Amino acid sequence: MSPSSTTPQATVYGYPRQGADRELKKAVEGYWAGRVDAAALHATAAVLRRANWRQLADAGITEVPTGDFSLYDHVLDTTVAVGAIPARHRAAVDTDPLDGYFAMARGTQDVAPLEMTKWFDTNYHYLVPELGPDTVFAANSAKPVSELREALGLGHRPRPVLVGPLTYLLLAKPAPGVAADFRPVTLLDRLLPVYAELLADLRAAGADWVQLDEPALVQDRTPAELNAATRVYRELGALTDRPQLLVTSYFDRLGEALPVLAKAPIEGIGLDFTGPGAANLDDLAAVGGVPGKRLVAGVVDGRNIWINNLEKSLATLGTLLGLADRVDVAPSCSLLHVPLDADLERDLDPQVARWLAFARQKSTEVATLARGLAHGTDTIAAQLAANRADLASRAGSALTRDPAVRARVAATAPEDARRAPAYPERAEAQRARLGLPLLPTTTIGSFPQTTELRTARADLRAGRIDDGTYRDRMRAEVREVIAYQEKAGLDVLVHGEPERNDMVQYFAEQLTGYLATRHGWVQSYGTRYVRPPVLAGDISRPHPMTVDWYRYAADLTDRPVKGMLTGPVTMLAWSFVRDDQPTGDTARQVALALRDEVTDLEAAGAAVIQVDEPALRETLPLRSADRAAYLEWATESFRLSTSGVRADTQIHTHMCYAEFGAIMTAIDELDADVISLEAARSHMEVAHELAGAGYPREVGPGVYDIHSPRVPSTEEAASLLRAGLAAIPAERLWVNPDCGLKTRGWTETRASLEHLVEAARLVRAELGG
Ligand code: GLN
Ligand code: ZN
Repeated sequence: MSPSSTTPQATVYGYPRQGADRELKKAVEGYWAGRVDAAALHATAAVLRRANWRQLADAGITEVPTGDFSLYDHVLDTTVAVGAIPARHRAAVDTDPLDGYFAMARGTQDVAPLEMTKWFDTNYHYLVPELGPDTVFAANSAKPVSELREALGLGHRPRPVLVGPLTYLLLAKPAPGVAADFRPVTLLDRLLPVYAELLADLRAAGADWVQLDEPALVQDRTPAELNAATRVYRELGALTDRPQLLVTSYFDRLGEALPVLAKAPIEGIGLDFTGPGAANLDDLAAVGGVPGKRLVAGVVDGRNIWINNLEKSLATLGTLLGLADRVDVAPSCSLLHVPLDADLERDLDPQVARWLAFARQKSTEVATLARGLAHGTDTIAAQLAANRADLASRAGSALTRDPAVRARVAATAPEDARRAPAYPERAEAQRARLGLPLLPTTTIGSFPQTTELRTARADLRAGRIDDGTYRDRMRAEVREVIAYQEKAGLDVLVHGEPERNDMVQYFAEQLTGYLATRHGWVQSYGTRYVRPPVLAGDISRPHPMTVDWYRYAADLTDRPVKGMLTGPVTMLAWSFVRDDQPTGDTARQVALALRDEVTDLEAAGAAVIQVDEPALRETLPLRSADRAAYLEWATESFRLSTSGVRADTQIHTHMCYAEFGAIMTAIDELDADVISLEAARSHMEVAHELAGAGYPREVGPGVYDIHSPRVPSTEEAASLLRAGLAAIPAERLWVNPDCGLKTRGWTETRASLEHLVEAARLVRAELGG
């Protein structure tokens, strides 16, 4: 090899797709609405790709990714590239590939879309491939090849990116109508020739390297799956007509899969050295490194928004130099998971803005590191000095270090995170105070977010109405929601959350230590982008956040109204979290702020307070070995937020899913008096699971599937309730929908809740109550 080919280079695995102004969202949605034609959509996409490559090249990235761009989702693009179009979409795809593509993503009037699920433990959602024993794969390299050509034409050195074959199969599920125990990974022999063809096409089009993403290898894998990995890369490696292969892993350490890839006849390996991936360093040394291979070192956190500690990264890179033929520098994963450009954040305190690195800044960081590694730290002395100063300003800032918050966290004792007295005594006190009927009815919190409510919020932000007018409109909604619930005959009421745009953002905006960005958009799925708030400093609560709304609602009725909060784990999961202290410490700070809110609600008269934790399971570490430590701080912080109340104050929690498996014990450790869960679709399976595990407290398994506009009949809700009773005794069973109603319309909500209340009455009568 020539010396220049071993000089450290800078690269990235993928880049945000949306554009600085979310041009992609506008173009795609415009296409759906018929305002933008296909040619204009493709032209916008090409402009965005070109701008991204330009931005990367300007930052000093020498090898740019191609094919990572997507009009909707890169896993769906892979489905197209391997020809795994579900039968129900084939006609549409054949007629018009673009419309067929969007039909797979979103469904049509008659045809259901592919299922969507979370991409590992990120907040990105991909479309799940549907495979079966009859699946016939066929290579379609049109998109990867044309984007490669585009980049070559612009004078870049491109590296096409594909989801690796093993990850693709491990993420797939059995197609509808296929036996549930069908394992897509059994299709490997059929899939590999298709990848061989894609690789040959890319080679022929001028690709020197191809990147195959195999993040599924950082999860716990069975020996059979590890053997499959060996086979995949032995076979792809043995191909003669192929580009050089870079197999990337990210989001965690490779563990048992590291020796598999180290021994494989591939030319490059990408490893994550951030967060739990840091273990890759010792593991790599233990296998004797990857001599003869290119190692791409993910030393810059690709999923969070903080500047890198350049000196620390250089130390890691220095160690790695001896463990591979060539060491390149990269972010730990695709930059898809961070916003585009921190320079656009002009409203932030300029000092704080210097602590932030979005995709563009991270690209500069990896380029700087590569330069330092290649030519000596002297050549990046100015950048190192600036980086030191920025890190010092962050460490010494009053925002990141609030002595009062720190003293309070330090003074918390284990008893603060434990409710006294124990559950049975609490249950009795609560029963006496609340006097609820058997099978009490309630909802999860939100009522329909109508166009009028959204418009009022937009008007407030745009300054078209003032705070007072806005508040009056929201109060009018609360009056309506309370009056409706009384009329419908619900037992425990809610105020309906009209004032909340988002269950995390609403609180983040009111807590000190949290920052909001203006342009910090990150793709959640398709054309949906979120702007996660930033947990930047020590967290405190200057004022009560929900008490006025609670009081307003409670004064309108004699029935109990639930106080309604978002729990600490969910607050963290849907935010960017500070990386300068353990996550558990940040959770504890948030928990203490919420604890104050909980006790203020109690003081304002709330006998029932719900603390939602829909994200508890989704933040579960990818490796099972790391889960106990996570669940420890997660459950502790929930209890810290909820344990400051009297025995006769009832704490509810809510989660949006039904499969617990791994977190059953943790659910118990929350020690919530009542938990509501999604259960309608699985016909109360979760109630049986909880009962089977001996769960001792009250449970509200949903009897109304709120994910569809369908109105359940009274009999349907009653039959679900009876199924619930087969698992949970009547004294501990609640009647409620699966989740909040904010995405539903009023018409179906009214009909459904009336049936829910009637079902409760019916079943109470059957019980002889
Ligand atoms: N209280 C929230 C609501 O009803 C809960 C939503 C959630 O957990 N996703 O909207
Ligand atoms: Zn929910």
